[in-house]
Amino acid sequence: MRLVIVSNRVTIPDRHEKAAAGGLAVALREALETQGGLWFGWSGAVVETGAHEVRSTQRGKVSYAVTDLTEAERQSYYLGFSNRALWPNMHYRLGLTEFSRTDYTGYLAVNRRFAKALSAMLDPDDVVWIHDYHLIPMAAELRRRGVRNRIGYFHHIPWPPAEVFGALPFSATLISTLAAYDLVGLQTEIDVRNLIAGLEALCGAKRAGDRVRLGRRETKVRAFPIGIDVEAFRKLAALSVRAAPRPIKTTRESLGERQLVIGVDRLDYSKGIVQRLEAFGQFLRSHPEHSRRVGLLQIAPPSRSDVPEYAELDRQSDEVAGRLNAALGEFDWTPIRVVKKAYSRNALAGFYRRAQVGLVTPMRDGMNLVAKEYVAAQDPLDPGVLVLSRFAGAAQQLGEALIVNPYDTHEVAEAIRTALAMPKSERIRRFERLFATIASTDIAWWTRRYLAALSEIDQSDAPPVRTGPQQPPRRKQPPKLQLVGGAAPNEALAAAGAASSRSSRR
Ligand code: UDP
Repeated sequence: MRLVIVSNRVTIPDRHEKAAAGGLAVALREALETQGGLWFGWSGAVVETGAHEVRSTQRGKVSYAVTDLTEAERQSYYLGFSNRALWPNMHYRLGLTEFSRTDYTGYLAVNRRFAKALSAMLDPDDVVWIHDYHLIPMAAELRRRGVRNRIGYFHHIPWPPAEVFGALPFSATLISTLAAYDLVGLQTEIDVRNLIAGLEALCGAKRAGDRVRLGRRETKVRAFPIGIDVEAFRKLAALSVRAAPRPIKTTRESLGERQLVIGVDRLDYSKGIVQRLEAFGQFLRSHPEHSRRVGLLQIAPPSRSDVPEYAELDRQSDEVAGRLNAALGEFDWTPIRVVKKAYSRNALAGFYRRAQVGLVTPMRDGMNLVAKEYVAAQDPLDPGVLVLSRFAGAAQQLGEALIVNPYDTHEVAEAIRTALAMPKSERIRRFERLFATIASTDIAWWTRRYLAALSEIDQSDAPPVRTGPQQPPRRKQPPKLQLVGGAAPNEALAAAGAASSRSSRR
């Protein structure tokens, strides 16, 4: 049985690449190497016009098959429908959602093209595992081509309530294509509830336990909270104490004895970066005794910078940080540092370890791996405190963090104060529970559990889906439609995952 992974982006490892530390891409590669397999998707390259060939490369037991996108495909499939319609909608941000029929048509066309290319490479007993929102209709396109293999899907971002998803034009058609999968995995039980309610409300699916029946097909829908490589991160962080990489040494020197609060996020409106800066400012105003004694380091590598709305978030975060520093700083102390570049996992592990507080306050997030990385990197004898948004998927597992509502600036400000003042015994007690949770649900556990669930499914009687996703009606000049109020989106729509190890999926 061969494993076939499909993701939006495929990064072919360098022949001489040293073992990378953890991350989704590495975990998936390991799963492929264990049993041999194929990884298919976009090369990341963009060509002017339709060079649609598939290039194959072998690395050990793993084959990589990649195809380029044309500029028009990148605009419609990737930047357009995936990142300006699905991404904001699925993060519950109707006001930022921009729908265009041209983009939707392009999205379907790329999924169809990927399915056509992949179906020619499939053996009958291959198990296919498709990743993320860029590729929702791909299984329906594979079924249309008569593919009867087991096909699973994992959705890495939140699934919104039916009323929110239903606002997206063609939502009923799109959600119904999920019935072409044998197993649909989501991050949390909330996402599972939302998706099943959406299938029931928008296309009349019937639920039976953890299965959903639509027409003659039955699909299992379950939560598989994604994890990190805890051991690798723990080791990196412990090493940073003995042999600190240069940025960590410099941080120590520049901070002196000051306490450190850290945030690490792609520059994306879902992450609540601006709201977090405001909350830190509120904390300093309410508790001036902390003046000069603590600083916030916000690492915010730009992502999807060619989506126009990014510029607004970029500008806003600079403006808020500048205003707060001017109002609250002293000649020898800058309270907030926002660094808009990506750091290696090595450096991040050291920053996490040095920080007394990890501030992870997204407005909505599928999981948020940074929360888990912060915990993994702590010193068990003197751990820092995680302040975590209740709207991060991770909050469903990490109840011993200080859970906050990121919309409530005062609540976040008070949580920072509580975290900085927390007695060591309580910090250790919370840390031990958090660490036990992330260690028992790490990335290897996640991969094993998902693949076991997929291979358990008996799909011998699953009929192929005959109809693919419906095309929007043709128009000469498809209008740009906006979902809510006609207001232009005013925040960045995020993108191809920074310099992160998760570039395979964003
Ligand atoms: N990351 C990184 N360098 C940076 C900032 C982030 O390698 O400068 C990594 C981080 O360690 C984490 C990932 O990017 O593994 C972000 O994952 P998360 O689930 O928190 O958010 P996403 O970006 O996938 O929405």
